[in-house]
Amino acid sequence: MTVHDVVIVGGGPTGLMLACELKRAGVDPLVLEALPEPTREPKANGVFGQVVRALDRRGLYGRLTGSTTPPVANSAYFMFAAMPLDLSLLDQSPLYALPIPQARMVEVFTEYATELGIEIRRDHEVTGLAQDEDGVTLTVVGRPDLRARYVVGADGAHSVTRKLSGIDFPGITRDRTTSRSAHATVAPEWLDPGTGGLTVPGHGVIRPFLPLRTATGTFSYAPLPGHPPLVNTSEWDQPEPPGPMTLDELRASIHRVLGVDIPLVAPTGPGPHVLRRLRGSNTRVADRFRCGRVFLAGDAAHIFALGGALTVGLQDAINLGWKLAAEIHGTAPPDLLDTYDPERRVAADRMVLSAQAQSALVAPGEDITGLRAVVGELLAEKSVVQRLADLISGTDVRYDFGPGHPLVGTFAPDLDLRTPAGRMRLAELTHETRPLLLDLTEGSSLADLAAELGIETITAQAATDTDLTAALLRPDTYLAWASTSQIPDDKERAALRTAAHRWFPPRPDTP
Ligand SMILES: Cc1cc2nc3c(=O)[nH]c(=O)nc-3n(C[C@H](O)[C@H](O)[C@H](O)COP(=O)(O)OP(=O)(O)OC[C@H]3O[C@@H](n4cnc5c(N)ncnc54)[C@H](O)[C@@H]3O)c2cc1C
Repeated sequence: MTVHDVVIVGGGPTGLMLACELKRAGVDPLVLEALPEPTREPKANGVFGQVVRALDRRGLYGRLTGSTTPPVANSAYFMFAAMPLDLSLLDQSPLYALPIPQARMVEVFTEYATELGIEIRRDHEVTGLAQDEDGVTLTVVGRPDLRARYVVGADGAHSVTRKLSGIDFPGITRDRTTSRSAHATVAPEWLDPGTGGLTVPGHGVIRPFLPLRTATGTFSYAPLPGHPPLVNTSEWDQPEPPGPMTLDELRASIHRVLGVDIPLVAPTGPGPHVLRRLRGSNTRVADRFRCGRVFLAGDAAHIFALGGALTVGLQDAINLGWKLAAEIHGTAPPDLLDTYDPERRVAADRMVLSAQAQSALVAPGEDITGLRAVVGELLAEKSVVQRLADLISGTDVRYDFGPGHPLVGTFAPDLDLRTPAGRMRLAELTHETRPLLLDLTEGSSLADLAAELGIETITAQAATDTDLTAALLRPDTYLAWASTSQIPDDKERAALRTAAHRWFPPRPDTP
């Protein structure tokens, strides 16, 4: 029986992203996907925050957007618990946005995976999993068993991989809310040309994407590109109506929330169009992201009540890909795979915190209204906006790599560099899945150490304002070592050697 190095269960965004990471790192993954064709079901409308920069660092931002220019974070505001975050207060907003329907993202990832030569077997539903010391055997409906050295469950919220591995999925289910969404157009006289939102009697201008909370629920209007605007309400303690969702049901819900009838027109043109009622929401994190030779990533590992799930899931894939590849190539330090769970748990826990805080702040009640007024006052402070923007963008995630420079364990900053080959962005030098030593020091003072360590080195000068003078980047572009000295001293050089050996140990045959 063929033994595959890595089998990924699930060909959604997380599974495909992981497959591409592995392939670029020199491993041939096999993707098993239950569905015969990719689903067209509308789900996420895009991703935001740090993941946009991470996609850029893999050369995927351009593929996903069709743009040849780097991502910019130029939105004037973002939302936190149906309150505006005034991003114009910040020197640099971390809230990069990449609006793209999830189905299109999967299409782009599939094209890219196919270009890379990755095998995706559709109509392959995994129903059984048994692991031993040497590998994992998978049962696939109507097909022969498969054997793999490692298996990654990227099979979504109801992950069979997670269940078959005996991993619990603890968390919170809130069943008081009913969310109703539809793609629908609104008559032009309701549109506010200044903001692109709606002018609604009694409420003034309702800005696009920014939910409005009233005593009975929330309302939002999101004119996303590529399809009719998405109109949404969320209400508490409403009886569940029988039958499928209708536009009239949404109209009635809008009336209850806003006290106004907004004339909605059903969309024409090619779908699929959203017309959806969802009861309740879940925020859950698997109690382990690893069980022996089985790993979980994306929704299989965590789900959050208020969006952002894809943002975390895609970065799970970037974290796990190079580690599994190093293990397969025999170059990984012994505990490398064990670092996946604690590192990604930090990111998941931050998103849980964000989801729970936001759920509490949009809940009904006079006391919550009072709390919102206080939080609203705090939102006039730049430092508060920065903290919340960092939380929801995932920028405040810092992995624990032990003591060291404060930048160690953080996502490398975006840098413009003057290199011998010309001016480049750091993000253009990280498309390959490999470690990188960045030497911006006076007289390239790390050249001797770089040669000793055998790590690919970029010698350059910073063309942007930065204190960073040197850094060791892991393949996921997190900083394993950093310096802000023009000429790092012996202690810093020793720390660099230690960090390089910790993450990329020298092969036994190298001196
Ligand atoms: C209505 C809705 C709106 C959303 N909006 C947002 C948003 O705005 N922002 C955001 O970040 N997230 C959003 N999400 C969440 C987002 O869609 C998920 O985070 C994302 O789909 C997770 O990707 P994934 O690859 O981990 O899992 P999935 O997309 O669920 O992919 C899992 C894949 O595994 C396959 N599979 C399942 N079981 C098996 C099996 N046994 N064998 C083989 N294959 C299997 C499935 O067919 C599927 O293709 C939304 C979700 C919904 C439902």
